[in-house]
Amino acid sequence: MAKAGVEDATLTLHQDRSSRKNRASEVPDIGALMGVAAAAGKAARHIYDSQNTMEYRLKLIISEGGPVVEDDAVSNAYDHIGNFRDYFKAKLGRDSIDNNGMDIICNVHFGTKYNNAFFNGKEITLGDGDGAIFSSFARSLDVIAHELGHGVVQWTSNFEYRNQSGALNEHFADVFGTVITQYVEKSAADDADWLIGDEVMGPKLYGEALRCMASPGTAYDNELMGKDPQPDHMRDIYRGPNDNGGVHINSGIMNKAFYLAARELETENAALIWYTALQNLWPTATFNDAVAQIVKATQLLIKRERVRSGSTQKVRAAFKEVGLPAKDETSIPNTPTAKITQF
Ligand SMILES: [Zn+2]
Repeated sequence: MAKAGVEDATLTLHQDRSSRKNRASEVPDIGALMGVAAAAGKAARHIYDSQNTMEYRLKLIISEGGPVVEDDAVSNAYDHIGNFRDYFKAKLGRDSIDNNGMDIICNVHFGTKYNNAFFNGKEITLGDGDGAIFSSFARSLDVIAHELGHGVVQWTSNFEYRNQSGALNEHFADVFGTVITQYVEKSAADDADWLIGDEVMGPKLYGEALRCMASPGTAYDNELMGKDPQPDHMRDIYRGPNDNGGVHINSGIMNKAFYLAARELETENAALIWYTALQNLWPTATFNDAVAQIVKATQLLIKRERVRSGSTQKVRAAFKEVGLPAKDETSIPNTPTAKITQF
């Protein structure tokens, strides 16, 4: 049971897909296309306490600007969500998850000893952990930024949550997790820890993490969880059916490339490039598609003097180190419809 619980947590730290389906009709894309976009919201935070039930929005504890509360899970979630929102606004010019100021809703104390965190298309939900393997998920800025990053993916490329596009979904969520953490901690690419979820590991797993972007495959190795299965090169890409076709496994390959690029370009510049590319990717994109759009975004940002000339070569070199673009993937049909955006 414990093992299943751990697999559940390590493999499913993601948005709930049944809820993603419901979301389709709620995205204001159609209105935007017709020039009648909804009025922008204020990107206000609202933190609810599930009081150890599986209920959403059970008891509102704090809303934007409200008085400080004693509950650490509430105040941590409130602060971390604020960091996420403020980073996107200040550094990437994005107004909340949907770029239209949507409020950010969070449920804490979800379930009993619940070993997971997820974004369901509408709100983020955080368990307390079982206190042995995992501690409170509200403690971790990188986990919260990761989950909200899934929201940004949903409102941009909307990657299908399986196979390579699913691994891209996980990858971009990890990118936002680490860049926002580095920004808040004022660390740089060469002194950041590049870990995702290190703060949520319980006392038995102290010193480990859910993923390591600098060195995929080394985040954990213990009897409870087994060994971190992430590859760091295309030669080792997982092709099996587990984990929706390896969405949390193969993201390691892209994560390593981002890490290498950030070491060369500085994290903030790499983040701007990746975010620009994200807006021009599409639901069924492959790793090769992502590489092509990331290179294109780099060229565009050089032209606009947002990143230094020579960055394109560094980005390509980072991908080359992980075996991308992959030669045997060229036959996968592309259906790019998006154009390069202004940013
Ligand atoms: Zn995820």
